[in-house]
Amino acid sequence: MITLTHYINGAQVAPINGKYMDVVNPATGKVYAQLPLGDEADVEVAYQAASAAFPLWSKMSVDARSAILSKIADLIDQQLDELARAEALDNGKPLKLAKHVDIPRASSNMRFFAHAITQASSESHFMEHEPAINYTLRRPYGVVGCISPWNLPLYLFTWKIAPALATGNCVVAKPSEITPYTAYLFGKICEEAGLPAGVLNIVHGNGPSAGNPLVSHLHIPVISFTGGTATGKHIASVAAPMFKKLSLELGGKNPNIIFEDADLDLAIKTTIGSSFANQGQICLCGSRVFVHRSIYETFRDRLVEKVANMRVGDPFHEATQTGAVVSEAHMNKVLSYIELAKEEGGRILCGGHRVILEGENKDGFFIQPAIIEGLPYTCRTNQEEIFGPVITIMPFDSEEEVIAMANSTVYGLAASIWTRDVNRAHRVAEELKSGIVWVNCWLLRDLRTPFGGMKASGVGREGGWEAIRFFTEPKNVCIKY
Ligand code: NDP
Repeated sequence: MITLTHYINGAQVAPINGKYMDVVNPATGKVYAQLPLGDEADVEVAYQAASAAFPLWSKMSVDARSAILSKIADLIDQQLDELARAEALDNGKPLKLAKHVDIPRASSNMRFFAHAITQASSESHFMEHEPAINYTLRRPYGVVGCISPWNLPLYLFTWKIAPALATGNCVVAKPSEITPYTAYLFGKICEEAGLPAGVLNIVHGNGPSAGNPLVSHLHIPVISFTGGTATGKHIASVAAPMFKKLSLELGGKNPNIIFEDADLDLAIKTTIGSSFANQGQICLCGSRVFVHRSIYETFRDRLVEKVANMRVGDPFHEATQTGAVVSEAHMNKVLSYIELAKEEGGRILCGGHRVILEGENKDGFFIQPAIIEGLPYTCRTNQEEIFGPVITIMPFDSEEEVIAMANSTVYGLAASIWTRDVNRAHRVAEELKSGIVWVNCWLLRDLRTPFGGMKASGVGREGGWEAIRFFTEPKNVCIKY
């Protein structure tokens, strides 16, 4: 049994209230760690530490800040195996996914913003009708709050923390209570990298106990949040009346659109990844697959044949393609959507049931990946985020029809289009109400690009200059000469 600690003011500390909660390994169903159930008192100590560290950190040279963040990236690389194992244990994802995606991306996040800040500049505006010039100062806010979810724990945690720190802010961060392990290890890495005490503080606990005090803190003017739309709505209701700056990266119900001229082999291979990677628990996963009627049956049959044979298993086995979903509660939620799909008239073409494995995984939370057909695009199964290894597949006849179907949900995070017709690709990309559109690919990420969703998928964008701008406050200085 591991006992985790907060990381506050440069030290690993126990919760002030002495309370802990269980952390469960989703692949075994067994408790493997105790997590501080932090509360307002811990958030306050973390805030005080961050506030005290701010003058030093914000005035440190950009090169010095950049060097420390790069060192953190190097240490993540050096500890790849340990971090990947921790992520797989905590989240249930296949170890090879953690090793090839989650942890390398966490180090890329740190390195990307360590470099980006050395290239940051602000604007100036020369006035032609007056002898005057304006320049824009971009300064850090002070102490900012970062709250992240359980699906890509260290990946999304660092995606917020890196730009916040690079721009000179100090941070109080709260990882998900469900997957806190790599955030705990990250605190140790920061200590080892020489990050000054108080610059980053990690407070563990659940949403109401540790998240809420952070969001409602009087002196934390910026909140960057990634998680569910309902939580985002709650956070906005608390933070907006306090005039806080908010970045909300929320849920999705993403369409994959396969036209009749698509490269079918590539579209099928990628659809398997975009549907079921990380057990379908990536906000960018495509969960509604629209296929042109002329190729519908061929595409469906080939997809079903491959997905029905996907290997669900122990995250630590090399052959495993699908690990455990993150918790028992989440497994039950996903399975309840399978029941709903049946009630709504859907046909389950494969999977959709709990898988009971043998040995130490017998109590793990495993679901066989599911494909469902025969549902109207307007039904609840096709409108609500399931966030598990479940997709629906539907035929369409025309471009106009599929655009309307794709845009019919409250969400607007990501979409993918499969076609060899470049004109159509541009037309459809333009019409989709999604913050991110991939054409003939999926999850191809350039960290300089704006990342985020439209409608109920969020407010604001992360990535590149968007993140640098988010974590800095512009001030215009006008000089007449
Ligand atoms: P939640 O909204 O349940 O939780 C996200 C984070 O918010 C967790 O750290 C959680 O803490 C915390 N939290 C919960 N309640 C509050 C509160 N009242 N005040 C402050 N913080 C709170 O999301 P999940 O963890 O379930 O993540 C899955 C969701 O995240 C999906 O909807 C997915 O689409 C979305 N997501 C969006 C992404 C995007 O970029 N748009 C990327 C990845 C995921 P705790 O868990 O400890 O209670």
